[in-house]
Amino acid sequence: MAYDPNNIFARILRGEIPNQTVYEDEHVLAFHDINPQAKVHVLVIPKGAYVSFADFSQNASPEEITAFVRASGRIAQDLGVEADGYRILSNHGVDAAQEVPHFHLHLFGGQRLGRMIKPLDS
Ligand code: 5GP
Repeated sequence: MAYDPNNIFARILRGEIPNQTVYEDEHVLAFHDINPQAKVHVLVIPKGAYVSFADFSQNASPEEITAFVRASGRIAQDLGVEADGYRILSNHGVDAAQEVPHFHLHLFGGQRLGRMIKPLDS
């Protein structure tokens, strides 16, 4: 899948759409989700143009990958959710209902999060 430079997170990165930033460095931006699914729900995105986790894991440079992983852990610490726990999740593709075609991690916390996913339909 080709990267769409007009996806909503690309527009946020260009400053065309406002966001509530919680962290930014050379490679990474993190901001509050517009429709939070938990008391803490932050999106962590690379600044590079990667469609999804599959694209990022295969094509990002070691520097970008290291920066992204380190920043994600640091953001959880800074948000104060490390002690009680948090969940990170990334949706890739149709089965996962990925909406925005720019790779992102969801970081959830601030409350008990329950089971990881709904049980399989029988
Ligand atoms: P996905 O389903 O692609 O993994 O998740 C996309 C996420 O982006 C959703 O949780 C949605 O609420 C969030 N989102 C979509 N548009 C915007 C926006 O303009 N600003 C922010 N902050 N979050 C957005």
